Amino acid sequence: MPSADTSPTPRGRPFREGLLALDPPRLLGSRCTDCGAAAFPARTFCPACRTGVVAPAELSTSGRVHSFTVVRQAPPGTEVPYTLAWVDLPADEVRLMAQVVGIAPEGVELDMPVDPELTGFGTAEDGTGLVGFCFRAVGQVAP
Ligand SMILES: [Zn+2]
Repeated sequence: MPSADTSPTPRGRPFREGLLALDPPRLLGSRCTDCGAAAFPARTFCPACRTGVVAPAELSTSGRVHSFTVVRQAPPGTEVPYTLAWVDLPADEVRLMAQVVGIAPEGVELDMPVDPELTGFGTAEDGTGLVGFCFRAVGQVAP
C-alpha cells in the first residue's frame, strides 16, 4: 500500500506500446550504436546521423524544465490550470513534452529539476487501464 507521500502506481499497460517500462518505471527510447544519440520515442533510425543502427534504451530519470506554458482552458473533464512543459533529459540529450505535476503553475521555473513519473492515462476499449507519464517537481510530494 502506498504511503501518503507518494503517488499510487497506476495499473494497466502503457498507452503506447514500447514507450514505457512500468516496473521499474522508465521512459523507453532508442540509442544509436554508431554516434550514441538517444531519441524518444524510440526510432527505427538515428535522427542525428541517419546512418546508425539503433537499439532500445532506457532513458535517464532526471529531467530539467526547458520551457513551459500554463493551460487554462481545456475540454470538459480536464482539470485546469495545468503546466505543460518541454523537459530536457540532459544525460540523454533528449527533449520531450509532458505535464508537470506536484507544483502549482506559478511555482514552475525554467531549469527546474523534475523526475519522470507514471500516471493514469484513461482506459482502453477493453477496460484495461492505460498508463502514461508526466514529470514531478523534485522534492514535491503527491498532491
Ligand atoms: Zn547516430
